[in-house]
Amino acid sequence: MNRSRVPVRPSDVTRDGAWSRELDVAVSVVTDATVLARDIQGQIRGEAFLKPDQSPVTIADFAVQAVVADRLARELPADTLVAEEDATSLRARDGEPIVASILTWIRRFAPDADAGRALAAIDRGAGSPGDRFWTLDPIDGTEGFIRDGQYVIALALVVRGQVEVGVLGCPRLSLTSGDERIADAEARHAGSIAFAMRGHGSFAAPLVATGECSPLRVSAVREPHAARVLRSRAGHHIDLAAFNEVIRELGVEVAPILMDSQAKHAVLAAGHADLLLRIPARSDYRDKIWDHAAGALILEEAGGRVTDLRGDPLDFRAGRTLVHNRGVIASNGHVHDAVVDAIRRLGMIDG
Ligand code: AMP
Ligand code: MG
Repeated sequence: MNRSRVPVRPSDVTRDGAWSRELDVAVSVVTDATVLARDIQGQIRGEAFLKPDQSPVTIADFAVQAVVADRLARELPADTLVAEEDATSLRARDGEPIVASILTWIRRFAPDADAGRALAAIDRGAGSPGDRFWTLDPIDGTEGFIRDGQYVIALALVVRGQVEVGVLGCPRLSLTSGDERIADAEARHAGSIAFAMRGHGSFAAPLVATGECSPLRVSAVREPHAARVLRSRAGHHIDLAAFNEVIRELGVEVAPILMDSQAKHAVLAAGHADLLLRIPARSDYRDKIWDHAAGALILEEAGGRVTDLRGDPLDFRAGRTLVHNRGVIASNGHVHDAVVDAIRRLGMIDG
């Protein structure tokens, strides 16, 4: 792959475009947040709390959301943020030690930050998705974060329902070292940043040298039976029986690759796998917009395709959740129609 050593700003690599400033701000803050998350993970060793819905959350989820929200508020003050976490539990009396711990981390970027500023920054994520907003998953794949698997920092700019800018910070995934196999890319744990601007392509750079960008391109695999398929590592997020049925219907020969978070989208964009199939365990479950916005644009700009199980585009206009879409098919594009057809043949969608 060609590496351009001269450019230092992401918008140089995308050759400007309408969202240059937004892209540069987003890549810069996600890079900081990715290093922060990696450092926190190295220290807290799996320590987590439970949210009211019983899903886990860590110091890193809150610290990353505070850092990203604070930076966006300073650099792009008119913009709305729609993010996963809120500070309600931290404002309770037993939240004090957690806030103190969050503060020690975010003072790396804001030395004079106090509890009030940190909590206010986190709560900026409660914005409502309108004509133009950012959406953030501070730690996508918290379960991966806790068990030393994959996790990403996902930030995207959505304008009139279209994702225009997407950035994924991947602390434990190498996308640019020439590693052809996922096992190598994961084993290096070198970390990378992937980013895209609509109409201007997808790129990735090593976390340690973010100026060294390489273009991302999907694989050329055309035969569904030869597809390398990705699925959630969290078996309770997906309908495993349905997943296996589709895989069988397609005649897929290679064992699926299990991976947490939108790291899967980055792996597809880099051409290291060919298909991601997400059939939610509960038929009424709807994914959150921050679980797909950044990854979808990065994959599409690398030549791939993203739809729901029906083959319809993801509708980012509908609020904090993808209420009009059930499940996700993400692919290199070539195998996509065969997967939509197989799901329809198996009667897994109505109509
Ligand atoms: P993955 O590792 O690909 O399953 O993606 C992680 C994301 O799954 C998290 O960020 C959650 O938003 C989402 N998630 C959490 N609970 C569920 C669930 N019960 N069903 C489907 N997705 C879920
Ligand atoms: Mg998530």
